[in-house]
Amino acid sequence: MHKNFKGIEKTVFGRGSYAQLVSIVDERRHENDHFALFLVDNYFKGKNLTIPAKPEDIVTYMDVDPEEPTTVQVDGLRDQVKASKGIPSAVIGIGGGSIMDLAKAVSLMFTNEGSSQKYQGLNLIKKPGVYHIGVPTISGTGAEVSMTAVLTGPEKKLGLKCEWTVFNQVVLDPDLIASVPRDKWFYTGMDTYIHCIESRDGILNNAYSTAFGEQALALCREIYLGDKSGQTPENNEKLMVASLMGGLSLTYSEVGIVHALSYGLSKILGTKHCYANCVAFQHLGDYYPEGVAEFNEMIRKHQITLPKGLAKEWSEDTITAMAQVAIRLEHMWNHAIGTDWKSKVSLDTVKDLFRRL
Ligand code: NAD
Ligand code: ZN
Repeated sequence: MHKNFKGIEKTVFGRGSYAQLVSIVDERRHENDHFALFLVDNYFKGKNLTIPAKPEDIVTYMDVDPEEPTTVQVDGLRDQVKASKGIPSAVIGIGGGSIMDLAKAVSLMFTNEGSSQKYQGLNLIKKPGVYHIGVPTISGTGAEVSMTAVLTGPEKKLGLKCEWTVFNQVVLDPDLIASVPRDKWFYTGMDTYIHCIESRDGILNNAYSTAFGEQALALCREIYLGDKSGQTPENNEKLMVASLMGGLSLTYSEVGIVHALSYGLSKILGTKHCYANCVAFQHLGDYYPEGVAEFNEMIRKHQITLPKGLAKEWSEDTITAMAQVAIRLEHMWNHAIGTDWKSKVSLDTVKDLFRRL
């Protein structure tokens, strides 16, 4: 079966395009109970970012925590808003992957009964959600384009994954990412770079995923290695586009060993997604030789220091637990190593990979 995915319905791109959010939201105001729900990263509280809310709207500033968004948080927010005002005309997420995933999930839970916990998985959602709009303020994860909203539940950390999860609209204003601190700019941007390398270096690579991936890689090289590298307005434009294209590349191909190890680190140790990818990637030169060599150049150029020797502090149980999480992501190993991956990769192989970190 070939992958058959829905894309974002509408995209506005360009510096200053955030000003159009007001009219984009206004167009939806006739729907449901005539108010908008804005979910905004707490970083912007008291900052110079105008939220285009009317008196009837709800604006909620949210902290970002490695373990969030959670199913409990999503259900609580939905119940609270429903009880006080009803069903919004639009849900707008202004922030990084965490806030955008929260917005996607809350939108779906206004129209699907019960707890979000029971919808964690593929195509379990029954009905389309409320119109939802993503406004990224940090770029790299591709959450603005993906068909999943990653949630931490009581039993598992797993996405609400279906075609209705995809945003109806995204607003890509590169000026919004200008304030991202340098270290987060690096790690989150490297998530895009790693998406493209993993998408390319595996059996599911195809002309469609490669076209997006190659373009995103070229942009990453300009942003992180070029003569004009760094956090400039021009590079912020490029990074927003790279993030989106990297997300599309992996959607039509797959991620690989870096993400498998990264999920182990996140699940067992609570390490943030993009940072965990960087921590793992530096040690995987035998699997991704060109990618790791170029990544190391970027590290040097931007004087980023990644930890080494972490595994010395980990118990055997911790390493086993992380390896178990990683090896269960069979689709990633299949893509990276090949259909016969089980004859080449055992739990011990994966434990040894963690021992490199
Ligand atoms: P994030 O949303 O976790 O935010 C990272 C930090 O950057 C926060 O402290 C935030 O306050 C800060 N920040 C955001 N914008 C800023 C700005 N303009 N200026 C200054 N600081 C700013 O970031 P992320 O790395 O984009 O997202 C990680 C999350 O995304 C994880 O929860 C992960 O599970 C999820 N994720 C989702 C997908 C998907 O496809 N849905 C893919 C990868 C990761
Ligand atoms: Zn990623």
